[in-house]
Amino acid sequence: MLDKVLIANRGEIALRILRACKELGIKTVAVHSTADKDLKHVLLADESICIGPATATESYLNIPRIIAAAEVTNAIAIHPGYGFLAENAAFADAVEQSGFVFIGPKAETINLMGDKVSAINAMKKAGVPCVPGSDGPVGEDEEKNKAIAKRIGYPIIVKAAGGGGGRGMRVVRSEAELQTSIETTKAEAGAAFGNDMVYMEKFLENPRHVEIQVLADGQGNAIHLGERDCSMQRRHQKVVEEAPAPGITAEMRAKIGERCCKACIDIGYRGAGTFEFLYENGEFYFIEMNTRIQVEHPVSEMITGVDLIKEQLRIAAGQPLSYSQSQIQVRGHAIECRINAEDPATFIPSPGLIDIFHSPGGLGVRWESHIYAGYRVPPNYDSMIGKLITYGESRDVAIARMRHALEELVVEGIKTNIPLQISIMNDENFFAGGTNIHYLEKKLGMHK
Ligand code: ADP
Repeated sequence: MLDKVLIANRGEIALRILRACKELGIKTVAVHSTADKDLKHVLLADESICIGPATATESYLNIPRIIAAAEVTNAIAIHPGYGFLAENAAFADAVEQSGFVFIGPKAETINLMGDKVSAINAMKKAGVPCVPGSDGPVGEDEEKNKAIAKRIGYPIIVKAAGGGGGRGMRVVRSEAELQTSIETTKAEAGAAFGNDMVYMEKFLENPRHVEIQVLADGQGNAIHLGERDCSMQRRHQKVVEEAPAPGITAEMRAKIGERCCKACIDIGYRGAGTFEFLYENGEFYFIEMNTRIQVEHPVSEMITGVDLIKEQLRIAAGQPLSYSQSQIQVRGHAIECRINAEDPATFIPSPGLIDIFHSPGGLGVRWESHIYAGYRVPPNYDSMIGKLITYGESRDVAIARMRHALEELVVEGIKTNIPLQISIMNDENFFAGGTNIHYLEKKLGMHK
């Protein structure tokens, strides 16, 4: 096993990684900014190092400082968590070039999947269903673009190959808007991502977001842990996630899961990863792969009993997968509500001092968070302060538990989105299951 792991992240995921390391007898190094010296995992880690000021570019995004921290503490491996440098191929490369183990895939895999055009090509080759599209970049040739768009059929969406975070996309509903949309998206993408390559895809009007969790050991073995439904979104940000996805049968799960496993083997994938799909009229359409652990990983853990972070650590230590596909059984239902420090109506972030805090509990209730009474939420980072996860033998039980767990959760001193989550858990359409990616925004619009 790895002797010592440096956790290159903050907040709840840093604590989650620390707990997994402790269970495996791995020593931990916490790196933190000056704003984060009181984070729970910093206080619990075997060693901690301040790597810079609050500004992320000077701390959590500063590659030389993180490598230097690994050097002075004699860490063996670096876990990037999610966000920050987790999908930065240059970071993965720097970590390995400096003689440390990067807990994730190879830099070349991150590059391959980070470019959406190359990712889609690799997926097509592996037999993963993709959205009908341009099969490559589009550019200045207006007539050619018109012909491609006509073949795909309007509406189409122009997307940046290097895009992320729901940015760099434009829907086109008619031929008249096509060329200007391509050119505008190209210019924006060049400015925002330093890469002006754009491509076209069929725009799906009312899809759900369904994603497949995989684990691969880079030694020729890959398994999937079923799917998650993350359709409850606002501005492309997931708000509620659940597993399994309502309406997905065991046969459908096995079929799409097998395709993803084959793709993992084809691209030499190593570690935990997620294949994101849009799901409409019974069909899956690949949109992108996340080459890291995801915020919503706990719902998959709850229904399969697999500790995904421990598996990441084992894979990084060079061990083969601990499970075969036949050992993975989907059982029961799990839901995750993201708890954010923000105004529940305006969504404006609400950092500050948490003066009263009570965590929920009981059978099937899991609370993943770094907050405590007396903790001050800094204004510098993402507003997510915790994740509340409930498990039940059925979806109805998981929802009932979530309702009481949200009522029990007390976070005072700052504003949180707990009231919004309570209203979602009491929403009749959410209760019925299978709402699409536009549902939450429509619901919020109705309530304005
Ligand atoms: P990002 O990397 O920015 O997250 P994605 O490719 O994952 O970009 O797309 C983000 C979101 O944009 C999707 O979850 C979906 O809401 C919307 N989207 C992307 N492609 C399509 C499409 N072909 N049809 C409909 N919506 C799309």
